[in-house]
Amino acid sequence: MPIEVIEMLGETMVKVLPVTIALALVFTVLSHFWACNDGPPWWRKRDLITDICYWFFVPVFARVFRIGLLVLGAGVIFNIHDADGLVAFYDNGHGPLSRFPLWVQAILFLVASDFILYWLHRMFHGGGFWKYHAIHHSSEDLEWISAARFHPVNLLIGTILVDVILLMAGISPNIMLWVGPFTTFHSAFVHANLRWTLGRFKYVIATPVFHRWHHTSLDEGGNSNFAGTFPVWDILFGTFRMPENRLPDAYGADDQSIPTEIGGQLAYPFRH
Ligand SMILES: [Zn+2]
Ligand SMILES: [Zn+2]
Repeated sequence: MPIEVIEMLGETMVKVLPVTIALALVFTVLSHFWACNDGPPWWRKRDLITDICYWFFVPVFARVFRIGLLVLGAGVIFNIHDADGLVAFYDNGHGPLSRFPLWVQAILFLVASDFILYWLHRMFHGGGFWKYHAIHHSSEDLEWISAARFHPVNLLIGTILVDVILLMAGISPNIMLWVGPFTTFHSAFVHANLRWTLGRFKYVIATPVFHRWHHTSLDEGGNSNFAGTFPVWDILFGTFRMPENRLPDAYGADDQSIPTEIGGQLAYPFRH
């Protein structure tokens, strides 16, 4: 078991590292020409080490828990307990959803998960859930590498849970071949220090300026733009906010007591 864990760690690193280097290059160049906010480049960001730790920890955590919950869900709900049964159940999806072409399933997955995540995100901005999500909002220098800063509880009752629900509903895991790289790139993109609004496409897909407004303080309108990918949810439910001729310029969680290093951040919600 320990060897398997180390192997999986290694495998994940091998996958994550080249992607990280590519994203670093792309956003260094783009932010040089189209920065949203002045200041030092991302590699001189406060809490850079914290974000690098999340960047490599989150994919491993997400993978372990996604597989764990898929196995658990198949056992509890569908009474499948053996390896062959699991492979047959998940390999190419199952039921009516799996009969659509793969690209249709990919779009279905993106739209359905984004809708559920919109409401989960709103839930995380209220009451007892905020202390977990506040970690994501604690970045004061918002950069592409801030994208992975999520508390594990936020990840579990967020992307991981939604992935598991949709795969259990029958969508083929093979869609991840496209959906995975898209969401990785897009989440880094919306956190990048870019002043891009993409013109009229700002209503179609979440942009850096759209999501940077979400990271501003409450009195700056931070309680808006909850959609991860499709701003249509914010337009439909009255939370869309992109002021004309203005750019967001201050970010953070409104709570000065959030530690800046990862250990303190992971413990923070349990102390409050
Ligand atoms: Zn938020
Ligand atoms: Zn964010």
